[in-house]
Amino acid sequence: MAAREHSVNTFLVAGGAGFLGAHLCRSLLQQGHRVICLDSFVTGSPQAVSDMLAHPGFELIEHDIIDPLPETLHPTHIFNLACPASPKRYQEDPIFTLRTCVLGSNNLLELAVTCNARILQASTSEVYGDPEQHPQHENYHGNVNPVGTRSCYDEGKRCAETLFVEFQRVRGARVKIARIFNTYGPGMAPDDGRVVSNFFAQALTGRALTVYGDGSQTRSLCYVDDMVEALQRLMASPEDFVGPVNLGGTEEITVLQIAHMVRELVGHDVPIVFRPLPSDDPCVRRPDTGLAQEKLGWKPEIPLRLGLAHTYEYFCRSMGNVEGNAASLRANDSLSVGGAAL
Ligand code: UDP
Repeated sequence: MAAREHSVNTFLVAGGAGFLGAHLCRSLLQQGHRVICLDSFVTGSPQAVSDMLAHPGFELIEHDIIDPLPETLHPTHIFNLACPASPKRYQEDPIFTLRTCVLGSNNLLELAVTCNARILQASTSEVYGDPEQHPQHENYHGNVNPVGTRSCYDEGKRCAETLFVEFQRVRGARVKIARIFNTYGPGMAPDDGRVVSNFFAQALTGRALTVYGDGSQTRSLCYVDDMVEALQRLMASPEDFVGPVNLGGTEEITVLQIAHMVRELVGHDVPIVFRPLPSDDPCVRRPDTGLAQEKLGWKPEIPLRLGLAHTYEYFCRSMGNVEGNAASLRANDSLSVGGAAL
């Protein structure tokens, strides 16, 4: 099992004001590290890290990784989380998404080589596309449409993986690659278009839950705290372990089941409406997490129903629903594990 590093290091978190990035920055600070949060605020926001601004170990720099990086940066470790990550947001400006994946990664890799810093790439389950192998193992090469509406992200992230391994082979960069599956939790932007944020935002504003297709497509959701732990374990793993390694939830569930779980949490019959399935939307998705267990001693700990209850409380707070906490607690007591009784 990989141990956490306990010496004080300087972590550069690119995309640190995004959903996952802000949780990661907070955790690193709590462990006594210095954190430089670099963010363009295209999808992240200064509010996401406002609780850390007064911390002496924290620095926030507004910067887009596509542009040359400030020469003042001397990190010991770099997390590259900088990229719009929800389909809605990464499709808004697909050329920007591709540039972020490729040119941004290139800039960070050059910095990593200069500083001899470890660098971790936040890759994605999207490298598997609409998978024909299930669950997905790291040695599966995927089924990706190179010219579809999701390609800017899928192919951008695939190319970034290639850049990372070539920087290691050719330039001696100290790299790690995490393939991150759907992650959810407090801090998600209500308007990012993801399934969990959409459903909670819709339920709390009196709108119907929009299920795309017939809702039979599956995802394996991972709670954000579990993901942050996994990313740090990977960063601290032995030098010769590069990955790619799958990091994700193991409770596979259909989108329709997610809608029903949200309904139970909210505590009343929110209507469900069916909308067309977006093109290239993967039918199934579940990680084989054997490698993460073996190399990092990691597996997700937070059950889906508990994670969703925490997330619902967050949405109630952030969207100003004062009755939400009580409803959430009621639902938390009565929901069945993994949605089995839906
Ligand atoms: N989805 C849905 N309704 C929504 C948002 C998403 O049915 O309001 C579906 C989407 O089509 C996909 C799944 O939920 O099958 C997960 O979508 P998300 O955007 O969260 O992430 P993805 O796994 O597609 O990157």
